[in-house]
Amino acid sequence: MTELAELLQQEYGGREYGLISAGYAVERPASFRVNTGKTTVPEVLRLLGEKGIAAEAVGWYGAAFVTREEEAIRALPLYRDGMVYFQSLSSMLPPLYLAPAAGESILDMTAAPGGKTTELYALSGGKALITACERDKIRFGRLKFNLERQGATRVTALNCDASRLDEFLSFDKILLDAPCTGSGTVTPHTSVRFSRDYLNRCMRLQEALLGKALRLLKRGGTMVYSTCSVLREENGELLGRILPKAGAEIVPIAPFGGIPTLVGPEGTVTVCPSELYEGFFVAKIIKK
Ligand code: SAM
Repeated sequence: MTELAELLQQEYGGREYGLISAGYAVERPASFRVNTGKTTVPEVLRLLGEKGIAAEAVGWYGAAFVTREEEAIRALPLYRDGMVYFQSLSSMLPPLYLAPAAGESILDMTAAPGGKTTELYALSGGKALITACERDKIRFGRLKFNLERQGATRVTALNCDASRLDEFLSFDKILLDAPCTGSGTVTPHTSVRFSRDYLNRCMRLQEALLGKALRLLKRGGTMVYSTCSVLREENGELLGRILPKAGAEIVPIAPFGGIPTLVGPEGTVTVCPSELYEGFFVAKIIKK
């Protein structure tokens, strides 16, 4: 048994570990989001229909679709024109819980390649004031490319370490989609390079970024913390340690209909790896 499997079994016990490992063993279909900042769902469905390409709606989000025809869609002008964005279903959740609105100042702390930044932009009708930060230079290039292709022209993109942002800045809302071990993303063809040492490094980074987020968030402001990991160290345990010290607390959220979940901290959502979903953690937080 691998180190990751041992840890998951310790944390979740036999029954839930069984669900996780069954989820790891299935090949998920591709999913995409219609970029409602540029086009409409009926228009995309019409263009796909003309080519005989099938896409299945996802009940909890009108812009989300599942397809077995990713390559055919990537070859179409509608893809090159940024009318759709391929993104896992789980990773569409954090912007929905953050619920960006026109005029709000929003920080996306760790943004590349930009799936959630462009989703935030579309959800706000292009009217939120979004700052997107990314430390890695190559990934920052990818973020810029996607912002442009998706028409998210009013996003301020910064190639910098978010943990060093000037604390004179403050935001109404923050998304911290933290770097993590990726323990939710295992598939039959993709493993994650897991070790205790790597987990500890991720936890140190998550702690620094979460502390910073809570300092940059306005009083009364909300943030979403998410990871594509199902390990408690990177999720609930981290929040339990950091939130009380920062005068922040969890705002309860519930999973959208039909999304399979694992037992996690009260008021948070831990998505179980499964046929349609990668493993994911989402928590909504308010700074009092
Ligand atoms: N939110 C992105 C999306 O939906 O497309 C995915 C973000 S990925 C989980 C985490 C990102 O954080 C990586 O691109 C990584 O390079 C970046 N990162 C790691 N440490 C950072 C830091 N200190 N400041 C800014 N970005 C950082």
